[in-house]
Amino acid sequence: MQYTIPDYYKEFTCIADKCEDTCCAGWKIVIDKKSLNKYKHVKGKFWFTMLKSVDWIRGIFRQDKEKRCAFLNDCNLCEMYANLGEKSLCKTCRLYPRHVEEFEDVREITLSISCPEVARILMEKKEPVRFLTYEKEGEEEYEEFDPFLYSMLVDARDAMLEILQDREHSLKIRVGLILGMAHDLQGRFNREQLFSCEEVIERYQTKSARKFVRKLWKEEKPSVQERWEMAHKMFRELYELELLREDWDMLLMESEELLYSHGADAYKGISSDFKRWAKEESNIQIQAEQLLVYFIFTYFCGAVYDGRIYAKVQMAVISTFHIYELWKARWIKNEGELTPEEIVELMYRYSREIEHSDKNLERMEKMMLRDRLPWYRG
Ligand code: SF4
Repeated sequence: MQYTIPDYYKEFTCIADKCEDTCCAGWKIVIDKKSLNKYKHVKGKFWFTMLKSVDWIRGIFRQDKEKRCAFLNDCNLCEMYANLGEKSLCKTCRLYPRHVEEFEDVREITLSISCPEVARILMEKKEPVRFLTYEKEGEEEYEEFDPFLYSMLVDARDAMLEILQDREHSLKIRVGLILGMAHDLQGRFNREQLFSCEEVIERYQTKSARKFVRKLWKEEKPSVQERWEMAHKMFRELYELELLREDWDMLLMESEELLYSHGADAYKGISSDFKRWAKEESNIQIQAEQLLVYFIFTYFCGAVYDGRIYAKVQMAVISTFHIYELWKARWIKNEGELTPEEIVELMYRYSREIEHSDKNLERMEKMMLRDRLPWYRG
């Protein structure tokens, strides 16, 4: 079995009570069957705490009025961990913030940016992220798995990551190239021409592809009005998603007002000023690259199960765009300031809403299938 992890994987340690927004509050934690069964057999004085802290019928941990897990004490530490040890934790608590994508004979493990500490590590990282692979004993065979498609997707993803991390070129060009590549691969996939995908992958790594994207963008450049409408429409799509935390809606409304309520020209002015500020006083270009790499690495190869190649890349681009817009809105609110802590905060809050709801991930992808991003209109 092959395992892949990002190079910052080992830098992560849970900071527990020092965490600004603990993962033990705000969402329901589903207990796996094995752990639930183990909890039924706990003995001694902890049994009563266990009995009243678990919703045995729904198989979840109970929460208080503030949606804090019943095991979370006033010092933000887990009572189960303290009394029964690390091994007592259920699968979700043991794994988080690790995220595992499963393919035949392959496990790709990432760290979810919904954890503030992971988000901080990633946002502080200046060098391009590398992915490390190692082997462990064990083999498996899936009944329905297309190894040919998977291997094409892995090659395409490697090429996309290489393009995204090539800092010789503007992020806009890099994004155009990966969207273009995914768009063409989707066409070949739909026409059942997988055998010719390698040619597409190679084509988008050439100088002439960069020239082509640059030219197309110049010719197809949207007007100020179109750009504002497009950005506003994409942002408003976030309201179509299932709401996980009450304060998320407030953040969206406030950001929408700050960004789009003064019309197209004002939006253009704000965007140019923010871009200038970001270039001179922050690492936002690198941080946006790290986000794109994170989303592409985590989700792209999942297309082996649903064939949504272009939607996965669009989702990575649009998620990065949404986070960028949230950063911009906070920068306006702060009158031209944005701290590293706020960059991290907005990013993990976005991830908690989108990535931790299967419903939201599915809805986002469906939106991508419905409203196809014209990849050449940057
Ligand atoms: S969100 Fe991350 S750092 Fe915070 S308590 Fe959970 S795992 Fe630890």
